[in-house]
Amino acid sequence: MSELNARVDTTRAILDRVARDFSPAVFASSLAAEDMVLTDLILKAGLPIAIFSLETGRLPKETLAVLDQVKAHYGHEIELFRPQPQLVDDYVSKNGLNAFYESVELRKGCCYVRKVEPLGRALAGKRAWVTGQRRAQSSTRAELAVQEDDTAHGMQKFNPLADWSEQDVWEYIRANGVPYNALHDRGYPSIGCEPCTRAIQPGEDVRAGRWWWEDADSKECGLHLVDGKLIRIKSVAA
Ligand code: SF4
Repeated sequence: MSELNARVDTTRAILDRVARDFSPAVFASSLAAEDMVLTDLILKAGLPIAIFSLETGRLPKETLAVLDQVKAHYGHEIELFRPQPQLVDDYVSKNGLNAFYESVELRKGCCYVRKVEPLGRALAGKRAWVTGQRRAQSSTRAELAVQEDDTAHGMQKFNPLADWSEQDVWEYIRANGVPYNALHDRGYPSIGCEPCTRAIQPGEDVRAGRWWWEDADSKECGLHLVDGKLIRIKSVAA
């Protein structure tokens, strides 16, 4: 527990620095367990870091329920950014509603319309954004830095939980009575859109249930990519 306390102190210090030195800053919450840890730390400290989520139109009902849980628990409403209806209509009429199963390219096209484009609007005019990414989540995140120079969005990007383990996250959630997505108790360690997420089997990689029909190396939604490619954003010493 003392190791977790040290991680919490470090994370608080990072969030304080983001709020103090990089205003206006925002936190992009996927409403997953990691993001609930950051939500708890930001809201309890009353930090001026706005929290938003991308409501893709394909989220599971359990994820949408977290919005109400946050409102009931903290009296705070998470801001939602939705896809542009015309872009969704164009994609669906050209490719079909569930075309993402057909190819990585079509999947990334759907992620672009429903996630990447709305993210761009959510980040516009900001100096920094915060995410709940952790190194242990996947091979594509193994080198994740706490602070990155996000040249694609022209701002700093902070991953304050980069060195947290899955166990740290759940220890924090249980010790602090933090609300969380009910799907985590049903074999979903990583949760995205409903048609692109499934439960995993014991021993499987934590992101094995995301886009399970694809190779492990392509499993990013584009929020942390540039021009559709996984890039190592230049890390900056914290
Ligand atoms: S996760 Fe699936 S449904 Fe959601 S935006 Fe990406 S491809 Fe579309």
